[in-house]
Amino acid sequence: MPILEESSRDTPLYRMRHSLSHVMAQAVQKLYPGTLLGFGPPIDDGFYYDFIFPGEVTPGEKTLSEIEETMREIIRERQGFEREDLAAGDALERIRGMKEPHKLEYAQELIEKRGMDSLSFYTNGPFVDMCEGPHVDNTSKLPLDGFTLRSVAGAYWRGDERNVMMTRIYAYAYPNRKQLRLRKQAVQKAQEREHRKLGQELSLFAIRDEVGRGLPLWLPNGTAIRQELEKLADEMEFKAGYKRVATPHITKAQLYRTSGHLPLYEDGMYPPMLMHEEAESGGDGGGEPERYYLKPMNCPHHHMVFASEMRSYRDLPLRLAEYGSVYRFEKLGALQGLARVRGMTMNDAHIYTTPEQLKDEFKAVMEMHKKYYELFEFEDYFLRLSLWDPEDPKRRNKYFDDPEAWAATEKIAQEALEELGLYYKVSKGEAAFYGPKVDFQFRSVIEKEYTVSTNQIDFAVPPRFGLKYVDRDGTEKTPYCIHRAPLGTHERFIAFLVEHYGGAFPTWLAPVQVLVLPISERHLGYARKIEGLLRQDMVRAEVDESDATTGKKIRSGATRKIPMILIVGDKEEEAGTVTVRRYGIKQQENKTIEAYLDDLRDEIKERRHVKAD
Ligand SMILES: [Zn+2]
Ligand SMILES: [Zn+2]
Repeated sequence: MPILEESSRDTPLYRMRHSLSHVMAQAVQKLYPGTLLGFGPPIDDGFYYDFIFPGEVTPGEKTLSEIEETMREIIRERQGFEREDLAAGDALERIRGMKEPHKLEYAQELIEKRGMDSLSFYTNGPFVDMCEGPHVDNTSKLPLDGFTLRSVAGAYWRGDERNVMMTRIYAYAYPNRKQLRLRKQAVQKAQEREHRKLGQELSLFAIRDEVGRGLPLWLPNGTAIRQELEKLADEMEFKAGYKRVATPHITKAQLYRTSGHLPLYEDGMYPPMLMHEEAESGGDGGGEPERYYLKPMNCPHHHMVFASEMRSYRDLPLRLAEYGSVYRFEKLGALQGLARVRGMTMNDAHIYTTPEQLKDEFKAVMEMHKKYYELFEFEDYFLRLSLWDPEDPKRRNKYFDDPEAWAATEKIAQEALEELGLYYKVSKGEAAFYGPKVDFQFRSVIEKEYTVSTNQIDFAVPPRFGLKYVDRDGTEKTPYCIHRAPLGTHERFIAFLVEHYGGAFPTWLAPVQVLVLPISERHLGYARKIEGLLRQDMVRAEVDESDATTGKKIRSGATRKIPMILIVGDKEEEAGTVTVRRYGIKQQENKTIEAYLDDLRDEIKERRHVKAD
């Protein structure tokens, strides 16, 4: 059931935001004559416009409030928006007169490359922009207090880093002040949950310049979460018939030539290590050095595991799993906390199937995703079926060029989604180079859409590696391969989990699960005894040994978002009980140690999430 892209162009919200972007550009050019224009579209929560300011202007907060004031003046002038359609020649003439080189470049492209025979212009007051519209009739329709300029960022002209860097001014725009305020509050609340902020507050990870950008160090708290996720994946995959393997972090160049990653993907890899092995073994060292790469993905290694033995149809489907560490040389500017890094560990597996098994295995992976997502209570995401784009002029560089195989595998992926009754969007041109895939798209709290996990069909790489199995009839055949990573990489997945839970993890996943809190020093022995019992049960427990007041200790446990605090004093010690206080829940409960341990074991084993009120 493909979801239709909503057509949002002709809604009142779109017209309002789009018109405001013209008003902002007019205000900017009024205040800073000589400012050049890029594009200024509406976006989800407002609009932006790209500018090149004259050399002496560095836009800051003061600039933004000046622009905002000027925008309000313009709105009060009740300027009408007038449309004018000009034939190609006249349109170019008009833009040349506007002295806007970037608009001109775009207009030339529209006319010369895309064959448009006319262009439309909109005039409001003294300002003219080349634009398709639509707009409001008149600036008096724009909400004086429903918008605010929110931030300034750098942006390359048309998103291409070979082009000039422009200054993008973002604005929120809503129909009225109340909606604007709600939006700003939601964003602020979201920023509180941002994984870089919480990651530091909860001591999950550190990024040290001495080690390298994009190479996170996992601190004990973050490592506890990784281990729980690996345990979960181990169990889930074991029950689904997967087998675990382990492969090295470096490998010879030839492996990636065979896979097709070299030279296609070389920019994204760390440069090779040159090894003179001949010299080491007593030769003169004069031969060609061997090139080794840090692995950017685990697939070729798993293909080698497949190839290491004769395979028969009885071995299939063969599901090889590994939490594999890979390294990718992401651009410095793209790095972002844990969400985009250069060293990562992936919940990887490759499933080798016969053609008849492919669809069922693909469906089984989708079902596994569903189980995980129910466990984590993910609701706000969508599926994207990513296909190749046969019309792409560069298709030969981007995809294995086998239209028949694309058609067959895309059909299987689509049928799998339909048979499972899943909703999905279709996205042409987003496929992997070896086949179609389903991506699981999420939004982070700071509103960036990203892929958390993926399920891919590969018809192209197994033949390149000469992978074979002996079929029922004794002939050799090439298997299909499914690449899947429901829990993505630890880095991105944990970044996402931190924001999803706002740092308040369910007990099974929490770095510190239980904090034992003695009321006074004389209860310390009893507190340590309980800690010992918990640790024997593999529960991550700690005693708060500080001499702060009980109230302070409780607050400190809450700041660390520890799911359970056990308060122990005279009453508890005499009766052999504990007083249990859960994160975010006011009501306390008194239980015997045995009863508490039983309940805790169940809660952790079932990975239950007992939520705050
Ligand atoms: Zn416009
Ligand atoms: Zn793979």
